[in-house]
Amino acid sequence: MSPSPSLSIPPCYRSPGILLHAPRTRGPFPFLCSQSRSFSKDQGQTHNCKGLKFIRGKKQLKDLSTWGIGGPCNYFIQVFDQTQLVSAIRFCREHSIRFIVIGKGSNCLFDDVGFDGCVILNRIEFLEKKEPGIYRVGSGFRFNRLGVQCSNEGFTGLEFAGGIPGTVGGATYMNAGANGQETANAIRSVEFVTMDGKFLRFSRTDLVFGYRSSPFQVMEELAAIIAVTFELQHSGSAKRRQHEYMERRRMSQPVGEQTAGSVFRNPLDMGVAAAELIEKAGLKGFRVGGAMVSKMHANFFINCGGATSQDMLHLLAVVKEKVDQKFGVQLKEEIIYIHPEITDVDLNKDG
Ligand SMILES: Cc1cc2nc3c(=O)[nH]c(=O)nc-3n(C[C@H](O)[C@H](O)[C@H](O)COP(=O)(O)OP(=O)(O)OC[C@H]3O[C@@H](n4cnc5c(N)ncnc54)[C@H](O)[C@@H]3O)c2cc1C
Repeated sequence: MSPSPSLSIPPCYRSPGILLHAPRTRGPFPFLCSQSRSFSKDQGQTHNCKGLKFIRGKKQLKDLSTWGIGGPCNYFIQVFDQTQLVSAIRFCREHSIRFIVIGKGSNCLFDDVGFDGCVILNRIEFLEKKEPGIYRVGSGFRFNRLGVQCSNEGFTGLEFAGGIPGTVGGATYMNAGANGQETANAIRSVEFVTMDGKFLRFSRTDLVFGYRSSPFQVMEELAAIIAVTFELQHSGSAKRRQHEYMERRRMSQPVGEQTAGSVFRNPLDMGVAAAELIEKAGLKGFRVGGAMVSKMHANFFINCGGATSQDMLHLLAVVKEKVDQKFGVQLKEEIIYIHPEITDVDLNKDG
């Protein structure tokens, strides 16, 4: 595998500025680690370590992402509890293997080349009801399911989560939101583990969230979010509202297609939705290879079958360029591109 950092990135995303601005470098984790150079070597073998089973070179990232895009990762492991997660991270660190923790991959664009490191699939899925309206939830718990359950139980704050196909950890990391609600507003505290194995709990007041942004996106010492405690208020109308939001989604979004939700953030300062700008630029249905701007919702890009990461990155670039030309607005990506050799490339930080 070529060590070039610009590997498989189209010209528009080739600026070294982007790659050097990766928000999380996983702390002391070396990017150019000799032991993870052997990309896809030992294909198909498993590596057992302290009861953990790592799959080598065989797991296709397209199977771990709602976009259905992405090649093989060098190591893959599923973790079902905190101890396994910490052991997997420790294994990676001891062997100088870069890693990424993912939930449902519903906000990630993986590369066709794959990922030269370890993908840790978070399956920490417990839910504890501490008091009425207080839920402590494993970071791998389905966010959609949590939103439906809390609303059905008569609590407001997470109605919007119904229909979001991510995990609690992913939603917290992204500060997912919709319909005027966002994850941060329902959080009481977040428990996470650091790169040097420390467990920390931060209460909501210690954490500064923004529109689709969380402090975890820039926290170098973060290894993984483990659990989140939500504090919700009683509401007799939460269930009805949750149903309404779901119905609105069904009517306005290409539910059932292979997408990653909204690709671009809304330019909040302009009071206009990214989808509206893309639509007004005449790009609904615009296609690059197997990637297409949805005809139903212009901020959803669909893998119509066989789309590559190159197709998707090119489509993103063309849409950005056309919207900029027509309206003078620089759209910023909401999705996260996982570079084959660098953990988490923030496409927004394009210098
Ligand atoms: C059909 C559809 C509809 C959507 N609708 C919405 C919407 O209404 N609003 C919205 O905001 N988003 C929406 N999304 C986007 C996406 O579902 C959310 O951003 C979701 O919260 C991502 O969760 P995930 O578990 O899939 O994260 P992933 O895509 O797996 O990961 C996203 C990022 O979070 C990090 N991460 C995940 N889990 C952890 C963890 N435990 N610890 C540390 N880091 C972690 C990953 O490393 C990665 O950088 C939609 C997506 C789809 C496909």
